[in-house]
Amino acid sequence: MLNTITNVKIILKGVGFPEFSGTCTYIKTLNHNILVDTGSFEHRGQLLENLNKLDLNPCDIDAVILTHMHIDHFSNLSMFENAKIYTTKAELKAYENVVLMKKKYTETDAMDEVFNDSNWKKFYNSGFMDSQKKKIYQSIAPLSQKQYDNIVFIDDVEKLFDTLEFIQFYGHSDDPRGVRINYGCRSIVICGDAVTNKRWFDRVIGQGDLPKGDYKDIVRNITIASEKTNVIIPGHGLPFDLKTNEYDKSFLL
Ligand SMILES: [Zn+2]
Repeated sequence: MLNTITNVKIILKGVGFPEFSGTCTYIKTLNHNILVDTGSFEHRGQLLENLNKLDLNPCDIDAVILTHMHIDHFSNLSMFENAKIYTTKAELKAYENVVLMKKKYTETDAMDEVFNDSNWKKFYNSGFMDSQKKKIYQSIAPLSQKQYDNIVFIDDVEKLFDTLEFIQFYGHSDDPRGVRINYGCRSIVICGDAVTNKRWFDRVIGQGDLPKGDYKDIVRNITIASEKTNVIIPGHGLPFDLKTNEYDKSFLL
């Protein structure tokens, strides 16, 4: 039987600096409770509160799909003990390297190493992240054995529960994925930071947007995300409708 999707809600609104959290999207199917990303650690209380509004406990979530393993997207993973964790091998490896940096270096040196990439460095040193540096550093922690046991690699998987299709994106992190779902009559793409927000989608790309992926990757991701799509749920902004070019607040709690 097809696992029809019966509800889609944004349970954590993705926000940019200085609040800084990735969007967390809840998808209910006939047999599963799924989250795409889990937001940043400092939004944990809000995440729990919003799950409760949907009559859900963290233990009800049986799958967490990670668009990528940046701390603003997966830091609340440990809340969901019963969930299988879907990520890619390269994303996990990249995060493990970040954990190693923390063990090896002092705070300043570790952060310099983590962001030791020409694009990131420029952004990192721009002052834009100053309010977040300490929080980012503190959020870096090894995954628990239980989390490792729950990991399913999605490198070679196209679909999940018949109804969710994984999408390959490019840039920003090592091997990011998005999710396409059909809900009602609409095709929705949950992008992670492949499409950070509507501004980004509209190609108003400036200092406030995260680098690493070059402009070519960004345009490529926008093209992939838009194909036969009605609604985009970005990594750090409200969902928007591609036909009306307006924000779609129907997914908010
Ligand atoms: Zn992000």
